[in-house]
Amino acid sequence: MGKLEDALQSGDALVVVDVQNDFCPGGALPIERADEVIPILNRWIAAALNKHVPVYASRDWHPVGHMSFRQQGGLWPPHCLQDSDGARFHPALHLPGSVIKITKGVRFDQDQHSVFDATGLSGELRQKNIRRLWIGGLAEDVCVLASVLDARRSGFDVVVIQDGTRPVSLEGGESARHQMREAGARLN
Ligand SMILES: [Zn+2]
Repeated sequence: MGKLEDALQSGDALVVVDVQNDFCPGGALPIERADEVIPILNRWIAAALNKHVPVYASRDWHPVGHMSFRQQGGLWPPHCLQDSDGARFHPALHLPGSVIKITKGVRFDQDQHSVFDATGLSGELRQKNIRRLWIGGLAEDVCVLASVLDARRSGFDVVVIQDGTRPVSLEGGESARHQMREAGARLN
């Protein structure tokens, strides 16, 4: 058993947030060095599956003309358009069939930065007696941050996989880590 397997326990789940082409170098909304998280997260995914710890992988999956896009008055350039190459999980991310996918960003009336936002995830985790979440992915100061804060509000213990996440901006990352710590998340 490796170190990661030792860290994982029954009652844990692993949540891999939005490791998609558009958020990696060359994508529509690229995050610097985002692809460096992939080998790290692959090791966590493999370790979790070895230990029968459930693994969830979320994807941003926007309709054309989504309200989060700049032209529609939102914050972001168009990204993760449904069924586009950019919306695909990064090809280097290993997602065996037992990994459960969460699709978000599909709503017309609001964006969904958090994997908990209108997805039903907290009920799903409770049903599986999950108490602690290991969270990594993209971006640290947007969807990872929102997901971690929601997880804490829902009463889950949270460990953020620090080398498995990257922020949109350095200042954003610092602020996100501060907020996540304040909310009681552990940064490993
Ligand atoms: Zn989005």
